[in-house]
Amino acid sequence: MLIPSQPPSRPIGRFAPSPTGELHLGSLTTALASYCHIKSLNGDWLLRIEDTDTERCDQQFSEQILIDLEALSLHWDGDVVYQSERIDIYNDYLSSTLLPLTYGCQCSRKSLEQYWERKAIVETSNLQNANQKLLNRQRYPRCCVDASLNKDQHKLRIQLPDYSIGFRDGIQGLQWDNPQQTLGDMVVRRQDGMINYILAASLDDGLQGVTHIMRGLDILPMTTAQISIMQAARLPAIEQWYHLPLICNPNGQKLSKQNLAQPIDTRDPSKLIAHALQLLQQPLVDMDTPARMLEQAVAQWDNTPLQGKTSLNIPNSYIPNP
Ligand code: GLU
Repeated sequence: MLIPSQPPSRPIGRFAPSPTGELHLGSLTTALASYCHIKSLNGDWLLRIEDTDTERCDQQFSEQILIDLEALSLHWDGDVVYQSERIDIYNDYLSSTLLPLTYGCQCSRKSLEQYWERKAIVETSNLQNANQKLLNRQRYPRCCVDASLNKDQHKLRIQLPDYSIGFRDGIQGLQWDNPQQTLGDMVVRRQDGMINYILAASLDDGLQGVTHIMRGLDILPMTTAQISIMQAARLPAIEQWYHLPLICNPNGQKLSKQNLAQPIDTRDPSKLIAHALQLLQQPLVDMDTPARMLEQAVAQWDNTPLQGKTSLNIPNSYIPNP
């Protein structure tokens, strides 16, 4: 049985990138904000590489992320944790504490498509309504919950609670969500053994004693699932959540690897830090070495300008790689 770390004596935050590409301005602002915020509380900032998805992650990107963070003087505390080296830990939880909540599932994407199609047509009087209903589908209809399928030979789902869970978000305000209604029973391990993000991140945040999570708003819908999984695994609860507004290009489109956001260029790290701080609506810092700029940014860190915002637009005037 794994023993989680003792309740920490100081705040612990983390940056947890998935190495499916290089850092872009969006992921950089998450790194910078979580660093400045936790350091302003005299806490530790951990770096965890979320590389369980062997198809999408690449070691080259992991290495580049470390190089970029170093170039910006965003130095992490302790050793880098690689989730790909912790698969046994996740599987141990699945076969012990979390076992009663998991079940094998044989539904393929295609069979679910057909299920939803049939259901939408039966439940609605015409095809247009059915199509509308199909667009709204999201959660797994629990077809396999009582099928007692072999857990090692099928993908594994975890039962999420069907009640509302609330948490206070330091940026987005009070949040309530019912994870069963929003997400349904999530897949935690694929049939090929690959561990999914929600399980690995939930367990690691608990096992690493993380107290403060600051991350992108795109992950907010998964937070009540994470809270439930951490609770079921008997891991200490996260004390404070913060979901940062998404960084959008001047056309209002969210920066992401999917829409080919440009990798950051660390040849002029001070300028990059100044720009990211400006984007995060922080007080100005003097142009200096990255380390000294960060020191000032930490001393001045303020969540207030971000509160209630869901997006931040990169100004038209910003030229990433002059
Ligand atoms: N690995 C996730 C990503 O790169 C972030 C997960 C998290 O911060 O919880 O988007």
